Parts: sequence; C-alpha cells; structure tokens
Amino acid sequence: MKERHWMIYFFKNIKMKTKLIFIFTFVIAVTLASCGQYSRSKQANNSKTKETVNIPNFNQDSAYAYVATQVSFGSRVPGTKAHAACGKWIIHKLREFADTVYVQKFKARTYDGVLRSGENIIGSFFPKRQKRILLMAHWDSRPFSDHDPNKANWNKPIMAANDGASGVGVLLELARDFHLHHPNVGVDIVFFDLEDWGPPAYLHLQGKENSWALGAQYWAKHPHSPGHSATFGILLDMVGAKNATFLKEYYSRQYAPYYVNLIWKTAAGLGYDNYFVNRDGYPIDDDHLYVNRIAGIPSVDIIQLDPNSPNGTFWKYWHTQGDTLDKIDKQTLKAVGQVLLTVIYGM
Ligand SMILES: [Zn+2]
Repeated sequence: MKERHWMIYFFKNIKMKTKLIFIFTFVIAVTLASCGQYSRSKQANNSKTKETVNIPNFNQDSAYAYVATQVSFGSRVPGTKAHAACGKWIIHKLREFADTVYVQKFKARTYDGVLRSGENIIGSFFPKRQKRILLMAHWDSRPFSDHDPNKANWNKPIMAANDGASGVGVLLELARDFHLHHPNVGVDIVFFDLEDWGPPAYLHLQGKENSWALGAQYWAKHPHSPGHSATFGILLDMVGAKNATFLKEYYSRQYAPYYVNLIWKTAAGLGYDNYFVNRDGYPIDDDHLYVNRIAGIPSVDIIQLDPNSPNGTFWKYWHTQGDTLDKIDKQTLKAVGQVLLTVIYGM
C-alpha cells in the first residue's frame, strides 16, 4: 500500500471533529512555512542591497567650487585673517555633512623655534562603526614661495590652490556624497593645519627632521576621539593640476602596499591610469608619514610627483606664486574623486 492510499483510508475512517483539527493544522503549517520563506527572501534582498551599494558619481564642478571658495579668502597662512575665515567656512561645510565635527586646537614649534597655533578640523561619519577609513588633506597655505623663479617672491605666501585647497575641495565633495549616499564603512575626514611651514629652501635646512606636517604629528599623538583607529588612510596633496601624475610614493609603498595597489588598480579600471601612473615614486615627508609611523594607520599619499619639472620633484608651480586657481583642472579633480568613491563604496 502506497502512502497516499493509506492517507485516504485514514481520513475516511476518523470523526468529523478530528478531520477539522487536521485541516486547521495543515492550513496553519502552510501559512507559517510561506511566511518563513517570505522573511528569508526579504533578508536575502536586504543583504543584496548592502553588497551592491551604488557608487555615487563624483561632481567635479562642486569640488572645483570648494577649491575656489578657499582661494577667495586669500592665502590661508596660519595666524592670518584669511586662515581664520577659511577655517570657519570649512567647519561650517563639514557640519552640513558630517555626524560629528571636531576642532582640535594645538600649539607647535616651527623650524625657527616659534610656537605657533594650529587647528585640525575633523568630520566624522558613522562614528560608531568599527570599520573606518581615514581621509586627509592639509588646509593651510605655505608662507613662502621659496621655489619661485623670482627671488623677490621667496618670502611671499603662496595662494595654494593646488597645494592645499585641491585636496580639501575633493574631500568636502566626498563629505557631501557620504551625507547623501551612505557608504558601508565609517569615515573620518581630517584637515590638517601647519603642514606647509617647513624651512624655506634658501636656508638649506632640508635635513631638519619633523619640521613639516606639524598638525599631522599632533593628531597622530592625540587623535580626535580616544582609541580611534582606521583600516587605512588616504592623504590628498596637490591633486588638482591639469594632467597631474600620481606616482606610487615610497613611504606609501613601505607602509601600505596593499592599499597602494588597490587604489592604482581601481584607477586603471576606471581608465585613469594616465593620472595614477603605474610607476614607483620617491619618499615624501608629508602628513601620511606621521600617521603611518605614530598612529600606525597604513596610509597612502596621492601626490603629484614629476621628476621632469624644474624643481625635480613635484608639480612645476609647487611653492611658487604660480599656484593659483587657473591651474586647477576639473578633470583631475574628477579622476581623484571618482577613484576614492569607488574604493570607499566598494568596502
Ligand atoms: Zn607644500
């Protein structure tokens, strides 16, 4: 006797009340089973959306406008009105986008022994998330144009459209994206002060250790929130000039080789390998060095390196009166911004 026949026989020979109990139990069981299936498929859909979070389209016009606004204040040399006004504006913009904004005031001695005041500005996104990415740029302007071809300009401040404002502009635009389209990771954006008050070239003090990146040195020892950590960091410095070339800077390769490859491969995948050149670069004493050495966060410096320029190291207008807004190219801002968005939203 097959099972089905047995079931018909059984059903015919039991009382009506028992039959009803059987039917009722069967209906409940089927309903529960289908509910379970529904919630499982809903969960599956949810996890699917989490995995395939859309990568925003970086808006280079908005980033450019953020660069232009900084330049409109004048040279943002620490201790000047332009610096104070620009700092206020950056804080105001970050408050629009970030969950928490920190203003970290500090004092540090420059190469000449003078104690100066600085202000690191930090915007935190999703502060409770364990997995975090650190994004950095310096917002101060250099008080010297010591690589200007005209000696008479050596003690004049630079406008720092590229050497400062470009990195801040790209990161403020990313901040706007994090606010509109939430990534899966926490992010901290740190704008360092007093990066560019290193000794002027004509003093021949280049070997003087730790005289650059004073804000980063302070932050690496005193992070904005106790116990702060990040999976990795990316520093932007001079990321706005036309046809910029970003070589794989030496310390970045030493401390964060995995992330150098991730960033450069992502860039190549997007067709930006003309900017993110697959070539090794030399060591640069920049903010990321202290974040690597002191804070222990593997950090990559995206910085324009050009061994063929008149200064033999950086972009041709580096630390000259020529570092002005007309040198900023939206296509370069777009390349850098889109690569960062692709890396971050892929985490
Ligand atoms: Zn500089």
